[in-house]
Amino acid sequence: MKCLPGILYLVATPIGNLEDITLRALRILREEVAVVACEDTRQTQKLLHHFEIRKPAMACHEHNEHARAQEIVGILQRGESVALVSDAGTPLISDPGYRVVAAVVAAGLPVVPLPGPSAALAALAASGLPTNEFRFIGFLPPKQTARRKTLAALAAETATLILYESPHRILESLEDIETEMGARPMALARELTKIHEEFLRGSAAEIHAALNARDAIKGEITLVIGQALEVASNADPLDEVTQLEAQGMSRMDAIKMAAKRLRLPKREVYRRAAERGNKPPDTHRD
Ligand code: SAM
Repeated sequence: MKCLPGILYLVATPIGNLEDITLRALRILREEVAVVACEDTRQTQKLLHHFEIRKPAMACHEHNEHARAQEIVGILQRGESVALVSDAGTPLISDPGYRVVAAVVAAGLPVVPLPGPSAALAALAASGLPTNEFRFIGFLPPKQTARRKTLAALAAETATLILYESPHRILESLEDIETEMGARPMALARELTKIHEEFLRGSAAEIHAALNARDAIKGEITLVIGQALEVASNADPLDEVTQLEAQGMSRMDAIKMAAKRLRLPKREVYRRAAERGNKPPDTHRD
């Protein structure tokens, strides 16, 4: 007689506060699965130990996920269920697991998500920014050139953006956000669900100033970025350029920033500046 296949459970775990584990997650981990596939077995064993759950753990991270995916398919085909967890939060959200789920789906086997904590949604919900349309970006590239390119490409996005960032790179990223995306309402959520949970709200420059004044920036950080502040439809790009230059910005940077703020093509701002008899810069590249 052919046995029923097992189920792959995607189990969200706390992002700080252990009280955020769900009753269902505890039951599935305790009673339903043969093995827990996790990013870091030590990290997950600590969690299981806290809830007095004894279960074998299998390491499944970005370096072995491909092979593990096939092993997990084999376990499910034998009729045993598997829980997939990450170090914290919802697996697959800037965490490993996608290859496993894809392989299980391709094998025609069942996948059951157990919803629970995720820093992205917790930060978005408390940000005070529009939630009707949002886009999850995850981590920005660590190198500045690539990071700026990514941010420039996102500048036209009208949905609220959610990003993960490390405390070591947050100041640089905030500077790049200000340069590439202009003034926007933002919320920085730090240490969500933990004792020192904190929200900083304001523009990238304001949040940068608040963090920069500290001796050290610690903890886990999620950034939520709102739409560009509404600009008056009759705003004059040339006035904007002149103002930015008066603040010490070079002409080319002022044109770029004005274009972003007014949501106009750079070429257009450049042209209008030239038309008004203001000498444009010698080099012009779009
Ligand atoms: N899968 C996880 C989730 O659903 O939240 C995210 C994993 S990702 C590797 C880790 C990043 O999430 C951290 O670097 C930080 O940017 C964000 N994060 C995780 N826990 C957080 C917390 N308690 N407060 C704020 N941000 C957090």
